[in-house]
Amino acid sequence: MRVAVFSTKPHDERFLIAANQDGRHELLFLDARLSPPMVAAAAGADVVCAFVNDDLGAEVLTELAALGIRLVALRSAGFNHVDLLAAKERGIAVARVPEYSPHAIAEHTAALILSLNRKIHRAYARVREGNFSLEGLMGFDLHGCTVGAIGTGKIGRAFLGIMRGFGCDLVAYDLFPNAEVEAMGARYVDLQSLLAQSDIISLHCPLTPETFHLINTDAIAAMRKGAMLVNTSRGAVIDTSAAIGGLKSGQLGSLALDVYEEEGDLFFENLSDQVIQDDVFARLLTFPNVLITGHQAFFTEDALRAIAEMTIANISAFERDGAPLHAVSSEQFA
Ligand code: NAD
Repeated sequence: MRVAVFSTKPHDERFLIAANQDGRHELLFLDARLSPPMVAAAAGADVVCAFVNDDLGAEVLTELAALGIRLVALRSAGFNHVDLLAAKERGIAVARVPEYSPHAIAEHTAALILSLNRKIHRAYARVREGNFSLEGLMGFDLHGCTVGAIGTGKIGRAFLGIMRGFGCDLVAYDLFPNAEVEAMGARYVDLQSLLAQSDIISLHCPLTPETFHLINTDAIAAMRKGAMLVNTSRGAVIDTSAAIGGLKSGQLGSLALDVYEEEGDLFFENLSDQVIQDDVFARLLTFPNVLITGHQAFFTEDALRAIAEMTIANISAFERDGAPLHAVSSEQFA
């Protein structure tokens, strides 16, 4: 099939070419992010292959359908950026990669916690400047502290397993409790109890209408004073302005983000020569107790290989059977 690959970075090209080694599909690599003005670049293709910040709203889907696109193959697990109902109405199937490496994201979450707690980001810069003062670098023992995971799917479970290894007490909140999590020694509690009990709160739920701004001013007020909040799920699960308020008052002790609600205009690009226009994001960058990475939790060799292989497998199954291996439909997730 002819596949227009949007938001292509060199690593996408390398892993997709390797996964398509028999040359079964014709891959057209495009740097551009998919958006209304860029839809025309998909002309002549059967499939659009997209990433997390591509626009797959109703307007884009209408134009893709007019171009004859029959499948959107996401190179991601999350699909909150796709209007599934609009896709269905326009006869476009949507595929995703539901599981590639939960360990990649869970391990990055642990890396953020360790760095933020022990101020590695500040220590690194100081030592390079010949400043060996320890002032402001004090952390706390992870051993014995309470870690709360919101969402205990594949990534939440892998994350709790890691934190158990540090000797943390584990609490969890999910709409669907999982026996494997309880067998690890984690206790399921309601959301308010998790917020009240946790020294570290880590978000591993998808972005849905229910989880949009789940962490808002009220939720932050319900946390332990000085709690650490970590988000490697999707940016809009946190109301960023509320988090800034919590950081200013000291109610929120520290914040680690791999995702940000307005990341689409920032992440994955080198903007180091430009003035950042997003004042909320710019404010976040001023806090010494905020650590941000640009949506890189998935970014391991193992994960990229698995994403590329499943993306090609989805496209091959669609060509062969008329349905991808991992379809996402509006009914499934209504
Ligand atoms: P998953 O589907 O295995 O697990 C998600 C869990 O969240 C499920 O157990 C579900 O019941 C729970 N959940 C759903 N709605 C909830 C709610 N309202 N309250 C509490 N729990 C709720 O998904 P996963 O593979 O573990 O991935 C989790 C999320 O991580 C994805 O949706 C995606 O947004 C994000 N993610 C981020 C990166 C990254 O690079 N930063 C990479 C992959 C995935």
